[in-house]
Amino acid sequence: MRKFVYQFSEGSKEMKNLLGGKGANLAEMTNIGLPVPPGFIISTAACNDYTNSNKHLSEDIFEEVKIHLAELERQTGKIFGFKENPLLVSVRSGAPFSMPGMMDTVLNLGLNDATARGLASLTNDSRSALDSYRRFIQMFGDVVFEIPSYHFEQALTQIKKTNNYLLDTELTAEDLSELVATYKTIFTQATGQNFPQEPLEQLRLAIIAVFNSWMNPRAVIYRRLNNIDASFGTAVNIQAMVFGNTGETSGTGITFTRNPSTGEKAVFGEFLLNAQGEDVVAGIRTPEPIKALEKRMPIVYNELIKTCELLENHYLDMQDIEFTIEKEKLFILQTRSGKRTAKAAIQVAVDLVHEGKITKAEALIRVETKQLDQLLHPTFVESALKVGQVLATGLPASPGAATGQIYFTAKEAVQAAERGISVILVRNETSPEDIEGMAKSAAILTAHGGMTSHAAVVARGMGKCCIAGCSELIINEKEKTIILKNGTQLHEGEQISLDGTSGKVYLGEIELTEAAIGGHFDELMTWADEEKQLMIRVNADTPADFKKALLFGAEGIGLCRTEHMFFDEKRIPYVRQMILAESLAERESVLTTLKEMQKEDFTALFRIADGRAVNIRLLDPPLHEFLPNTNREIEQLASEMNRTVPQLTKRIHSLAETNPMLGHRGSRLAITFPEIYRMQAEAIIESAVIVHDEGIAVHPEIMIPLIATKSELKYIKKEIKHAIHSIFDKERVVLPYDIGTMIEIPRACVTADEIAEEAQFFSFGTNDLTQLTYGFSRDDAAKFLSDYYEKNILPNDPFVTIDKEGVGALVEMAVTRGRMTHANLKMGVCGEHGGDPESIRFFHQLGLSYVSCSPYRVPIARLAAAQASLHEKEMLTTV
Ligand code: ADP
Ligand code: MG
Ligand code: MG
Repeated sequence: MRKFVYQFSEGSKEMKNLLGGKGANLAEMTNIGLPVPPGFIISTAACNDYTNSNKHLSEDIFEEVKIHLAELERQTGKIFGFKENPLLVSVRSGAPFSMPGMMDTVLNLGLNDATARGLASLTNDSRSALDSYRRFIQMFGDVVFEIPSYHFEQALTQIKKTNNYLLDTELTAEDLSELVATYKTIFTQATGQNFPQEPLEQLRLAIIAVFNSWMNPRAVIYRRLNNIDASFGTAVNIQAMVFGNTGETSGTGITFTRNPSTGEKAVFGEFLLNAQGEDVVAGIRTPEPIKALEKRMPIVYNELIKTCELLENHYLDMQDIEFTIEKEKLFILQTRSGKRTAKAAIQVAVDLVHEGKITKAEALIRVETKQLDQLLHPTFVESALKVGQVLATGLPASPGAATGQIYFTAKEAVQAAERGISVILVRNETSPEDIEGMAKSAAILTAHGGMTSHAAVVARGMGKCCIAGCSELIINEKEKTIILKNGTQLHEGEQISLDGTSGKVYLGEIELTEAAIGGHFDELMTWADEEKQLMIRVNADTPADFKKALLFGAEGIGLCRTEHMFFDEKRIPYVRQMILAESLAERESVLTTLKEMQKEDFTALFRIADGRAVNIRLLDPPLHEFLPNTNREIEQLASEMNRTVPQLTKRIHSLAETNPMLGHRGSRLAITFPEIYRMQAEAIIESAVIVHDEGIAVHPEIMIPLIATKSELKYIKKEIKHAIHSIFDKERVVLPYDIGTMIEIPRACVTADEIAEEAQFFSFGTNDLTQLTYGFSRDDAAKFLSDYYEKNILPNDPFVTIDKEGVGALVEMAVTRGRMTHANLKMGVCGEHGGDPESIRFFHQLGLSYVSCSPYRVPIARLAAAQASLHEKEMLTTV
């Protein structure tokens, strides 16, 4: 017969999948001799058997439970349901992955009217016995019969009020006896039956309830958010009770072996005397800090400290330990690796390496890449956040925290920022015209758009906090109001705070603390650099972004978008003139002005790069993004260009496209107007010459976007090369430079061997490649992809994590074909996927030379690249 139930002594910490995390660790602690109350574990396999047989707990399994229960009676010298000396147990859920507070536990099971009386006379302490009984009725009622806890809480509050008590501990045995009677009445009223008196029946119902709790809505949502497979199931731990609620020499508490918010090496925790179970976290009484236990019970305190050391050395990680003291005797009830902030994760991992307990490789694997984000942005002070008033919740589009005054247009945001105001830009959605306003704001809030909307993508690139798609809000940009769900209005200049990590919008100002990097962080990052094989470059268009990225460890620029330089208020009129010019001569005169402007940008970047790679993409975006919208803009431009308004309007209409994303953009523009790319290439090379003359090494990469065929690239390359070589002839120098292409159109992937004949490098533009491979536009997809996740049609957002089977296969094909032509072809990624850890792992496996991402993602990419390399070497430690 299959075995479903295990004594603690039969398990070990490696058996998490079968015994659940809690059970495996209880087993491990039992076997290393720690004072764990005895017990046994019903395995996750039993949970799956229960679920698969239509929620029926099989008789075989329950028989096996009874055998182990008999063994537990032997070990404790107590008997289940026997009124003279009753065995009481806890029934504790325990999944393979820690899901704190998500599932259910019942304490003091086995109590009924008779055993409660028996326990009272045995211990000569009817108060404690009755206290345990009332707790049991409430927990059992809640977990097994779903009676809302507040029914019981109300009765408890009432009896305290009648007697003028402040604390639960003031309740006398008589009060508790009365409370038990009231609780039983509540139970009967809610369920239509008497409180079950038969302990074996209590046990059966509790086991079933724990199995069911695996599928409760809280647990289901938690698993979805944390990517935990629902097929694991939960184990059930049945453990002899120990009692922390038996007076002032008893108690219960939680301790961490190190500080989980700072990582400092010092025990950290809290306890409550005369208490049981969750009293510490429930906030009924204020717990005392763990240090205070030293005075109250020095022997117990020392034993606890020793246990902390022992467990940490055994698990080689910071532990979160639950304990109970019964009449000055210490019991350990749980250990697990403690949840921690990013700061603590780094400090603990680095310290453990210095203490000789783990290797650098293990430290690198342990720090979660996604946690690093937290560290790089300012965050709210926890306590301030707790009391904050939440106005609405949107999508956590870009992490970080910000507090400021609301403004509804980019222009007003800029003006307010220039007056020194911390601004939160509030829009229905943002567009490229809002860039400056976004850059000057502390954070961005939009009502429409998803995680990959313009606002979200740009904010992440800027490392700025953003909440997108906050559809609960009605934003009226004209009236300059936000209308909340309850009808309240907020006006321009009013203060709000955004938590980009949770997506919550708060009223008023919430206190902030600055991001702190350096020290341990730098040390871990140095180890990451030693391990990783991918280079990490940055997507940066401005000196400020580039400098910041270098501080974060970037090794060059992987994508400098020249169009972002064009959006500047002073430049956009010239850009518009360039686009709307009717003749080559007219266009070339504007291009001369723009060239000088671009040279300022490029020389600045080359100086900062100091010999590092700088990849500059020639003009790419759809034309309509540059065109004037308002009548005022058109009038002004018309006068600047010596045209009438109707003339200019006609020209603008002639450029309108049905689908600009698939329209006249990128290299297609250069086929029609080669002078634009010629100008840009000249600006790049003339800048390189200037910087070279200053004695700074420079090696630009010139990147052509949106190439589908070799012939396009060939034509453009010839035009550019010609311009470049005239500069060299004129200046009497020759500098190294590369001309390469974006690979972002499926056709380019398929014909990459041919394209490689004309390209010195490939840079995968995985955003457009994803868009074109799926055939849906990124901004529109944000509106319907949620349905795809809900119906399990897509596992996750392909714009965030690369779709390996489809888009990834195209990348792989291009890599292979590119290498057929040039074995050493330089290849990298510049799409948003370049900053996504899972995608980075894929690019590492393809043997690309670099990934490029936004400045704030650089440290994440460095760590992810190191982890990818370690995974490949199978240096993974079991988690
Ligand atoms: P969770 O998974 O929510 O932490 P637990 O199963 O750990 O739930 O139970 C919560 C608390 O109940 C424990 O921290 C402990 O204080 C108490 N508890 C559980 N089992 C026992 C027991 N056998 N004796 C005394 N207290 C117990
Ligand atoms: Mg616990
Ligand atoms: Mg593109």
